[in-house]
Amino acid sequence: MSTALQTSDLVEKTPLERYVAPARPSLVGLARPALAEALGAVGVPPAQRRMRAQQIWNWIYVRGADDFDRMTNVSKELRAALAEKFTLARPEVVAEQVSVDGTRKWLLRLPGEQAGGPPHDVECVYIPDAGRGTLCVSSQVGCTLTCAFCHTGTQRLVRNLTAGEIVGQVMVARDRLGDWPEQTPPEGAIVPSDGGRFVTNIVMMGMGEPLYNFEAVRDALLVVADNEGIGISKRKITLSTSGVVPNIARAGAEIGCMLAVSLHATDDALRDELVPLNRKYPIRELLEACRNYPGLTNAKRITFEYVMLKGVNDSLNHAKALVRLLKGIPAKINLIPFNPWPGTRYECADWEQIEKFSEYIFNAGYSSPVRTPRGRDILAACGQLKSATEKLSARERMALRAMAMTD
Ligand code: SAH
Ligand code: SF4
Repeated sequence: MSTALQTSDLVEKTPLERYVAPARPSLVGLARPALAEALGAVGVPPAQRRMRAQQIWNWIYVRGADDFDRMTNVSKELRAALAEKFTLARPEVVAEQVSVDGTRKWLLRLPGEQAGGPPHDVECVYIPDAGRGTLCVSSQVGCTLTCAFCHTGTQRLVRNLTAGEIVGQVMVARDRLGDWPEQTPPEGAIVPSDGGRFVTNIVMMGMGEPLYNFEAVRDALLVVADNEGIGISKRKITLSTSGVVPNIARAGAEIGCMLAVSLHATDDALRDELVPLNRKYPIRELLEACRNYPGLTNAKRITFEYVMLKGVNDSLNHAKALVRLLKGIPAKINLIPFNPWPGTRYECADWEQIEKFSEYIFNAGYSSPVRTPRGRDILAACGQLKSATEKLSARERMALRAMAMTD
């Protein structure tokens, strides 16, 4: 598999200075009560708000309407009143890249923190695979945490995304993939084999630490999971955290999606170095929170992410310690080939070593995704891309990382 990323000419990247922030708020991302409130703001009487909110909800999340004029069962007057105060805008797509393997990435532009201030860019990546399509969604611009091997960690946090901007990433992906009823997919799109939807799974594995933007992530995921709307079931939504322990319980209680934990080390000394948040929430507390995550069964397991760093955490002893550590937790282990970036002191573990590591884990009863043909491809790409990666942008590296995480 080649992971060459080509800039398609579907969308041109526009210069930052030409960005104009939306003048009116968008209804995209709002849950029903907030939609009812918006209707109140344009004079809809209280007795009608629930019914009208349901109609508008349906237009936004079932039909993908991006214009109030499409809402044919809503009166012309109400459509005009809504259009005067609100929009149905999604984050602005400033660039789209299509990989030869069908992966698509969108660079999205969002308003800055202050009115008139410089805008921010975030990324969203779509990875088609046999029988499913996974969308990798960002939760923050930058990240406050400073994991030693992560490029995002070198950028200071710029801001949290709003729930609308998080749902907006799903809307953009579905817009661009022609994934709404009565739409046609773009040329070259890998149409799902069952003729079903393009976006079937969501992973909160883009930029940022989702559990440090808890409320917005929760509200967004509840909208995305609502089965009368976008309808991606909570079992197909995975939230990845570096280990914000108190919010793991909240995620279980208030979101109920699948959990992935960026473990990366089997002892506190090493994890303190790789994932500095470990100094606050050490491994024992983190695994305790995992054990208590609601609804865990063999069919509903926690994914433990483990980035393979040469000579750092990739020995057979580490593999053994990992298996010992996770004993008793319904777990999957996701070995991620490290994607280097300019200035990093780490290297991706050797393919042979990853294979040995993976085999040990497999023999201990865990599925180990890098063993699959696709994983091999990705691993090969990781090796091949070692020099090329130096030239990749943070975004391209994120796409590669996301691809490594879809198994
Ligand atoms: N902040 C969250 C989610 C986003 S990162 C978290 O840390 O879990 C998604 C995954 O990519 C995490 O497991 C993260 O540790 C891993 N990752 C970060 N940088 C990487 C790199 N350069 N190569 C491979 N994986 C990386
Ligand atoms: Fe932030 Fe996750 Fe990167 Fe750590 S790995 S710096 S938590 S985005």
